[in-house]
Amino acid sequence: MRVLTTALVMVIGVAVETSCVNGFRNPFASDGSAQDTLAPIIKAYPREVNLGDTLDMMKNVSAVFHGDSVAVTCDASDLDYTVSGDYEVTYTATAVTGETSEKKVAIRVKNPERKVIYLTFDDGPSSQTEEILRVLRENDVQATFFVTAQYPRYYRYLAEAHEDGNVVAPHTYSHKFSIYESFEDYFKDLEKIQRIIEKYTGERSNVIRFPGGSSNHAFAHFNDDPDFMVKLCDEVQQRGYQYVDWNADSSDASGSNVPVTKLIKRACQLRGNEICMLLHDGPKKATTAAALPAIINFYKSQGYEFGTLTSPAYIFHHTVRPFSFAKKEPKAEKPKEVKKLRHASDSTKKNLKHLKPKQIDADIPMVGPTEKTEEKPAETPAAPAPQPETHEEI
Ligand SMILES: [Zn+2]
Repeated sequence: MRVLTTALVMVIGVAVETSCVNGFRNPFASDGSAQDTLAPIIKAYPREVNLGDTLDMMKNVSAVFHGDSVAVTCDASDLDYTVSGDYEVTYTATAVTGETSEKKVAIRVKNPERKVIYLTFDDGPSSQTEEILRVLRENDVQATFFVTAQYPRYYRYLAEAHEDGNVVAPHTYSHKFSIYESFEDYFKDLEKIQRIIEKYTGERSNVIRFPGGSSNHAFAHFNDDPDFMVKLCDEVQQRGYQYVDWNADSSDASGSNVPVTKLIKRACQLRGNEICMLLHDGPKKATTAAALPAIINFYKSQGYEFGTLTSPAYIFHHTVRPFSFAKKEPKAEKPKEVKKLRHASDSTKKNLKHLKPKQIDADIPMVGPTEKTEEKPAETPAAPAPQPETHEEI
């Protein structure tokens, strides 16, 4: 009888488990939290470590199954801290039901002595891509292109960039900040640009750059959740992507065809051994291509190699904090308008979705830090304070 009861409880238990699972195909809820699934959900992040140092492989790693924590193990047998390069470790978690999950995570062992610059071009392909590719080819260097679908007539350059050994990676399909209205909107837009990249290069990329960078405040025009970007940064990593910001800014987003001399001055400030440089590929960025030979020559003369962002283990992150809706506007920035829009009705917000970022920026003053305009030549190589991206032109 006891055996029968136990068997019955087990059957009922399984039935309950199964019914819990039905309807939850997506392992993540819309807010990024773990949902019920048939197997544990492992959270683990790409990491980087200096040559010779070691990592606590369980730091910030967790697994849950139906809301309960589950033990996680890590197989890091392929990781060699004495040889720089990109590695993969495997996390495993097993639920009480015996269901097992595996998650592969990229780890980069980097040589801090190695001088390397990553040139990154946002917003193309455009009328400028051909010239940028010509300069890169002529100087025998490669770059990373974070691309959009804004100028379809130039798609062919995606293939050309790829053939030259450049990395073609997603920026955004639409470059509308309304993609930050929800996870669904964001990932739908990401998938659309991935398909275009795949069509022209034969590959998808798991390295991405957010429109406006991860520290953008533009999302707040479309999303009331102050933590939305914090959650999105986490979500993209849980889905196997890595977002890349920058630690050096050529300042070419500060206007249309910013003077070449200014671009060179801003871009050629030494900022440590590992530089991720923000540049743009757009119809009003002809001076960026014109400044490129001098920028490349400068970094070559300083002994830098030119790298591309090929793995989720390349970590150039801005600090992303919850957005403060209560933050006071400087007087010059028309606080009344902002207040009105922040509390705008849903229909008003929907209408804003149709505006281009330029119009949005012009109509709605931004809260928080804006791009530094003051130029201070770096006297000694040092890690710079990351700057939010501005898109005045696009
Ligand atoms: Zn952009």
